[in-house]
Amino acid sequence: MSSPRSTRSIRIGSLTIGGDAPIMVQSMAATRTQDVPATRRQLELLTAAGADLVRIAVDSPADVEALAKVVDGATVPLSIDLQENYRLASEVAPFVQKLRYNPGHLHHHEKSRSIRDKVAWIADTAKAHDCALRVGCNAGSLAPDYKERFGKDHVAALVAQAVDHCAILDELEFHDFCVSIKDSDPRLVIEANERFAAQRPDVPLHLGVTEAGMPPDGVIKTRIAFEQLIPRGIGDTLRVSLTVPFENKGMEIEVGRQILADIEAGRFRSVPKGFFDGLNIIACPSCSRVENERFIDLAQEVKEATARAAEHDVTIAVMGCRVNGPGETDDADLGLWCGPKTVNLKRGPETVGTYSYDDVLEALLRELDAILAAR
Ligand code: SF4
Repeated sequence: MSSPRSTRSIRIGSLTIGGDAPIMVQSMAATRTQDVPATRRQLELLTAAGADLVRIAVDSPADVEALAKVVDGATVPLSIDLQENYRLASEVAPFVQKLRYNPGHLHHHEKSRSIRDKVAWIADTAKAHDCALRVGCNAGSLAPDYKERFGKDHVAALVAQAVDHCAILDELEFHDFCVSIKDSDPRLVIEANERFAAQRPDVPLHLGVTEAGMPPDGVIKTRIAFEQLIPRGIGDTLRVSLTVPFENKGMEIEVGRQILADIEAGRFRSVPKGFFDGLNIIACPSCSRVENERFIDLAQEVKEATARAAEHDVTIAVMGCRVNGPGETDDADLGLWCGPKTVNLKRGPETVGTYSYDDVLEALLRELDAILAAR
C-alpha cells in the first residue's frame, strides 16, 4: 500500500512502521491476560489471520507473571498496553518490542511526580530494552488538565495532549515512537488525526476508531475514517476494534486488510444514507480487563432488543469493565458497564442501578422508553 506519507520510520523489533513501509495491521488480545490458555489462543488466532503485531494489556504483577507464559513461543511481535499502572513497564519490556502508554492514565499513580518525569522513566525503560513506544490518546480517558482546559472540545484536547507528549519525547531524544488519537465517532477520528498530522507530519500514526462496536456498523465506522485518512497519507499502522466473540478475533485483521486493499484499488464505499442518524451503539472490543465474557453476548442482545428505536437519535454504550466503563459511558444517553456478576446501568453520567446480567436488558428498555417518551 503506497501513499504520500512523510512520517519518519520507526523500528519495532524486526518491523518498520512509517516512511515508505507498508501500513501495518495489528490487533489486541481480548481475553484476561491471566487466563494463559485463552490469551495464547488469541495470539494463535491473530497470528493465523496475518497480524503484524499483537497487543496484550497488563495491569498487575499477576498479569506480568502470566505474560511470561503467554509470550513463550509467540512468533508475532508484541506490544504491551500499560493501563493505569505504568510502573509495570520495566517488568514487561524485556518480553516485548513495543509499549503503549495512555497520557490520560499517567496521573493515577505517584501523584506527586510530574508527568514529564513519568514519561522520561517510561522512555528510559523502553530504550534500555530496545522497545518502541506508542503515545495512545483516547477521547474517553483524557488527562484531567486537558479536560479542564478544553472542556467539551475533545478534538482540541486530544490533539494538544498528543502534541505535548511528542514534545516531551523529542526533548528526551527518544525517537522510536508513534501516536494514536482515537474516538468512537469516526468523524472526530478524521478531524483529530488531520489536525495532528498537520502539526507533526513526521510522527507515524496508528489509526483506529475505538469502541466501534459490532459488525456491520463497527466495520462501516472504521472504514469511514480510514478511507478519509489513508489516501491523504495519514496512517502508518491500523487497528480495527470490533465487539465479536473471542474466537472470531481474527476478523479484526481480515477487515483491516480488506479495507487497505480496497483503498489501494480505489474501491471506496459510500456512507449508507442516514448512517449517522438514529440509534448508535458503541461497544468496546474487550481486553484483559473484561470482567465477564458474557459482556460480548450482552452487547449483541442490546443491539437486538433496542432495534425498535433505530430511527431515534439515541446513543447506547456497552463497556466491558469497571475501570474504563464508568468514564466511557458518561457521554452516552444510556450506558452499561459490566462487572463480574452484575451490570451497572447509567442514564448520561447518572447511575440508574445495578442489575444481574439477566435483568439488565429489561431495565435498559424501561429507561429507553422513558427517554423516547420525554422527546
Ligand atoms: S472498556 Fe474495559 S474491557 Fe473494554 S476495552 Fe476498555 S479497558 Fe478493555
